[in-house]
Amino acid sequence: MPTSNPAAFAARFGGEGHKGAAAAAVRALLNAHADSLVKAFYDTLLDDPEAKAFLHHSIVQERLSRSLHDWLLDLLDTTEDANDAAFVARQIKIGEVHARIKIPVHLVMAGASVLKARLADLLESEADGFRQFRLIDERIDAAIRLMSQSYVKGTMNRARLDEAYRLFSLDQDVNLERESQRASLMEWGQKTLFRILGNGAVDGCEAMANSPFGLWIRHRAGFLFETSPHLVALNQAMARIDGELLLRLEPDSGGDRAEALKALQAAVEEVAYLLNEMFQVLGDMENGRDPLTRALNRRFLPSILSREIGFANANKSALSVMLIDVDHFKSVNDTRGHQAGDEVLRQVAEAITENVRPSDFVFRYGGEEFLVVLVETRMDQAMAIAERVRAALQGREIKAGGLETFSVTASIGVAEHGGHPDENYLIKAADEALYRAKQTGRNRVERG
Ligand code: GH3
Ligand code: MG
Ligand code: MG
Repeated sequence: MPTSNPAAFAARFGGEGHKGAAAAAVRALLNAHADSLVKAFYDTLLDDPEAKAFLHHSIVQERLSRSLHDWLLDLLDTTEDANDAAFVARQIKIGEVHARIKIPVHLVMAGASVLKARLADLLESEADGFRQFRLIDERIDAAIRLMSQSYVKGTMNRARLDEAYRLFSLDQDVNLERESQRASLMEWGQKTLFRILGNGAVDGCEAMANSPFGLWIRHRAGFLFETSPHLVALNQAMARIDGELLLRLEPDSGGDRAEALKALQAAVEEVAYLLNEMFQVLGDMENGRDPLTRALNRRFLPSILSREIGFANANKSALSVMLIDVDHFKSVNDTRGHQAGDEVLRQVAEAITENVRPSDFVFRYGGEEFLVVLVETRMDQAMAIAERVRAALQGREIKAGGLETFSVTASIGVAEHGGHPDENYLIKAADEALYRAKQTGRNRVERG
């Protein structure tokens, strides 16, 4: 098997005889044709619009041409001592760079295919061509394999960090942020208007994109609002203001100034409206916390639970989850109305939150189901916490609508992480325990 294992590689390429001769021949071939290989690589990939987006920049072309050239010569360079460990490290580094600049792995593979095709052409008529092609083919594959490994690792870390930062951003005071951005936008509007009316020209006006508001939109809003269509529209409106509407207010623009001013004001109002809408949506279900119960949104569960599983496995620490389902919740809705049902859900979330630690994660898992990730918690501790939650809820007097209070109960399934890397495995165990708690009479805690 072609391999990145140093010993196996040394045996394969470092040896005497046929292989040594073939390696020397390929090395000579690469030396002679590195430039034309690099050219073939560019000629082909620049035809691909996706690849072109990464390659078209002249600095990239210059740098990458050089590194690609060196990479090719490196492939069969056996002159270094301990060559292979250094070779492995170099490929890993390249994969990290690809991850950082987000070049998709399939484009790297496409590039490798171009090089291989060109090498096959060069070796076709050589007497020992097949053996030589196999050598270089294996070596390219080994390099790409190493790059892909570090690429995936780097990309995963990045995605995790993005999510973590998003969660952190969401915890900031959103209302405060909304007010300060509103004020910042208004300030830009007033300043700009003042300049236009005062000087009769936009001279000295700051582009909205460069104002404190614009900078916040361009650098911070992305984390808070992710792929919000309002943010896309807001960026478009801002580009229109800077690229078109302000220019129409230049003294020599020749257009109708009153019209242009009206258009600018309308566009600024649109930006204010979009900003407001964006924050509105942030308060909704789609983001971070469930507005009814303040529990975390379920869509963060895979990200958080897989990170905690990784942590538990790496540190040999305990991890448990509990799944909580309100008993006969439907009948609360049916007999007391939906608002009473909503109040129950708030009370359940409160009873849970009061009985777990701030380091635990409480998710609204479904309509009247909550899932709690209990970090560094063994089964016996998790069972005690679950029992506390159960008792707290049972003893809670709930008031909604009418004067008389009522109470509800919940069933809880508990499971402890046993080393399995798939988070669904752990959730399934808790779900099965919950099912048993329901089957055996409700208002109970069962272990998975
Ligand atoms: P069991 O003891 O077997 O769990 O019975 P149940 O009635 O709780 O079971 P089921 O899961 O069938 O009922 C869930 C109900 O929760 C159905 C749905 O109408 C209601 N529900 C889901 N989300 C909300 C919500 O946000 N507010 C209110 N008021 N009700 C909700
Ligand atoms: Mg249910
Ligand atoms: Mg239920």
